[in-house]
Amino acid sequence: MKQQPRVLVVEDEPAIAELVLVNLRHNGFTPVWSEDGVAAQREIDAVLPDVILLDWMLPGQSGLALARKWRGHERTRSVPILMLTARGDEPDKVSGLDAGADDYITKPFSTQELLARIRAVLRRRSPQEGTDIVEVGALSLDAATHRVNWQTRPLKVGPTEFKLLHFLMTHPERVHSRSQLLDKVWGDHVFIEERTVDVHVKRLRESLGAAAAMVETVRGAGYRLTTQAAIPVTG
Ligand code: CA
Repeated sequence: MKQQPRVLVVEDEPAIAELVLVNLRHNGFTPVWSEDGVAAQREIDAVLPDVILLDWMLPGQSGLALARKWRGHERTRSVPILMLTARGDEPDKVSGLDAGADDYITKPFSTQELLARIRAVLRRRSPQEGTDIVEVGALSLDAATHRVNWQTRPLKVGPTEFKLLHFLMTHPERVHSRSQLLDKVWGDHVFIEERTVDVHVKRLRESLGAAAAMVETVRGAGYRLTTQAAIPVTG
């Protein structure tokens, strides 16, 4: 059975938090409530949530500061953040997205809208669950049929390299450390040496051929899939 997505709700107003928690619980989520950034950080340190619902106005550190902090930390870097803002605060929304939030929702919101937004950020961030085609530059990957194309030409990619590429393509332009890739691609509880990642990245590059340069090594940090790399033009 699929595990229920864990949603960390960071909200200081008990009435709103209660409403959100009840609705999440009734719709197949496991919600956890924190009243401020300190409590939320404790929760994150204990169990990493699948998505964070983050109020803008909080006692202590603001939602904006928290989003920026969590985006900058390795452990929380890829956890989707959905920001709650007050109606009509356009500059807030922009700075929220700048700080690394994936989406925002304006108060007051309908629970249907909230659930739809949460499902949307989870879909965008869960490579294993989607059946959609992912495209980055001229590279496209179909998770349903396990096909990879480069400029419409099919590429042969092994199963582990496929999973690795799928993860990189659904999280492009970000640097992922070897340990993060082990967590996300090989799974949390498997003990594998970090060198294994290098081996599969090498194989992936071989499979990608002309597109190999898209998989960049970031010295001392890890790997990144990017469209910014200089790619040789193939006729
Ligand atoms: Ca608040």
